[in-house]
Amino acid sequence: MENSNATTNAQGGDLSNLKKMFSDYQKQQTQGTKKRSREDLLAKYFVPRKAKETFRILPPKTGRKHIEEAFFHVVTTNAAGGKKKHGTVIYCPMHNDPKVPKLGSDGKPLIDPSTGNPVLVPAPCPLCAQHKKLIAKQDPSLKGIKKENMNDAQKVIKAKNDEIYKEAIKWEAKKFYIVRGIDKGAEKDGVKFWRFKHNYKNQGTLDKLLPILEDYMSNQQADFSDALTGTDLNIIMTDSEFNGHVYKAISAITAKGKSLLSNDPLVARAWLDDDITWRDVFTPKKAPNITPLEFLQMVVSGTSPYWDDTDANNKHWVFPGRPDLEELANTRKANLDADNEEDIEMASDVDEEYPRVTISNITESKVGTYTDNASDLGRETLAETAEVADTVDEGQGAENQSSGSGSDYDDLPF
Ligand SMILES: [Zn+2]
Repeated sequence: MENSNATTNAQGGDLSNLKKMFSDYQKQQTQGTKKRSREDLLAKYFVPRKAKETFRILPPKTGRKHIEEAFFHVVTTNAAGGKKKHGTVIYCPMHNDPKVPKLGSDGKPLIDPSTGNPVLVPAPCPLCAQHKKLIAKQDPSLKGIKKENMNDAQKVIKAKNDEIYKEAIKWEAKKFYIVRGIDKGAEKDGVKFWRFKHNYKNQGTLDKLLPILEDYMSNQQADFSDALTGTDLNIIMTDSEFNGHVYKAISAITAKGKSLLSNDPLVARAWLDDDITWRDVFTPKKAPNITPLEFLQMVVSGTSPYWDDTDANNKHWVFPGRPDLEELANTRKANLDADNEEDIEMASDVDEEYPRVTISNITESKVGTYTDNASDLGRETLAETAEVADTVDEGQGAENQSSGSGSDYDDLPF
């Protein structure tokens, strides 16, 4: 008996590693690799643009909701060619990240004496801080006074307060809803995320969507997202005009009726099992050698860095007012340094079990002979992560906002 065992091992070996390879590969096929290329990431956005779109909401993963809430800033940033880009959607750490320990003057976490636990505060967000700072500039003497009861002097103050408020709310974090589902017009892209803004006038996407979903539930006695008894949704788009700009708006949403998530049970299973979350897709903005927090600080000061690809022969990072960072970002060596490694998809053999290939023995001159690849290696990847998150979902209007106007699009119905 011992022999037969030994023989099996000698001939077949242990198949567990091989099995793992197949299962890993399969996972990769369905989930995509962890580091997504720009195109792959874009494919994860569901942005209704065509006259008619069809979307199927997936059942939520354990502990999550059908419709999740998240917060983003919608601000103006610098863009390729030295232009201004309005309506850039930026992840808000304060409203999306877990709270962080509050530090005392000694730099150590403060402890709440009553519980013995660290005192927690919201994660810092320079954009939220800017909102708060501007709001505080309003003259508080008008509090409680109705407009019709104001004297002329107070009306002047009121006008000034309004002006401050208008500027301040540009920096406020805005609530968005995110729905996980399948774009039936692009099933090959797999699970996608549909993000739309909360509308205080109850004229937003959610306000069109919820009654349809509720109707479906009541009429069919079924969960609209169920893989067997749920429904595809038709989204009818129309051209709408606001502030002289034409943008795509949802004119109606309808439930198509009970249907399978997919006729292919394997495909349905892969979609249902996909672990991707909106956080994998709507990530904080990045640029080389700075932290996401520093990026946000630069947005506030109007010096946000950008990837300039207007000249195909000279694609490069621009850091307004920071030649040091700009040079660093555009130097290949810098991009091979530790900070950015995580953005580069590594060959599968660079895992723990294999010795890492070091680059310490590569000389400058050797690196120099590969300049073509060099610019793509670090920079493109970084450009992708920095730009992908905000260039997509404004197709519904914000990208049509030309500079100078359209500052009031906060309550557009999307
Ligand atoms: Zn914020």
